[in-house]
Amino acid sequence: MTRTKKVKLKGDPKCPICSGQGYLALNEEDDEYKRLVAVYGEYADAYMTVKRCSCLEQMRFRDKVGNALYNADVIEEGALEDHGERNLFLQSNRSDFLAHFRSYLWNRPLDYYWRMTTDMDLIDIFLGKSEEWPSVSNFARGPELLVLQLGFQSYKNIALSGVVLECLKARQFVAKPTWVVNPHDLHFAQGQHLAWSPELEYHLEEEYRKLTIKAQRERMARPNGFGFETSLDHGDAEEGQGNAKGAGRYRNLDL
Ligand SMILES: [Zn+2]
Repeated sequence: MTRTKKVKLKGDPKCPICSGQGYLALNEEDDEYKRLVAVYGEYADAYMTVKRCSCLEQMRFRDKVGNALYNADVIEEGALEDHGERNLFLQSNRSDFLAHFRSYLWNRPLDYYWRMTTDMDLIDIFLGKSEEWPSVSNFARGPELLVLQLGFQSYKNIALSGVVLECLKARQFVAKPTWVVNPHDLHFAQGQHLAWSPELEYHLEEEYRKLTIKAQRERMARPNGFGFETSLDHGDAEEGQGNAKGAGRYRNLDL
């Protein structure tokens, strides 16, 4: 009886390039191959080392970023590429933000340490519901980039704006960039946003640059008669909207 050794495929079994092997031999165009030639001369062999196939790169990326980001629209040149070192207050729909963030992360190494969270998660930590994190500041300090999505906390909690501010100040303390993402239909203003407070608005004005990512997809017309606007271009914020003072670094940049 012959026994065949089963080879575990590392890549996508349907990949037309590597048939699922996940790795490819180098060719003369590859920098690594040129390096081998420089070191070993005529003894250089393309099989001395291998490179990852694009299918394996995609799988590694998916494992790292999770389904929500992996399945976001693919944008060739995302608008966030040059903003990695900056605090941003992003006015953006979630789907548009995820597409731009996906593009940003695709251009980063897999060990880039980032975290995406919501105001709802911060409240849970604050209320002691998290088994992992003892405090908001403890949670917030680690990542190189923290993305905080507002608008998930759906009931009024008097601590919300303070908890968000504590998170942002913890980031400020370790001098690491933060992106705050606020959906278009939640105007960050008194009486219109559960997380608004004068202290939080002041902090954002002083420390954050405001960017607007215009809504890319037409949204379904919402039912009239409940005070909803039916305008489809509601997301295309006007310059200066939500920024009455318009001064300092909290300025608008339409993307
Ligand atoms: Zn492949």
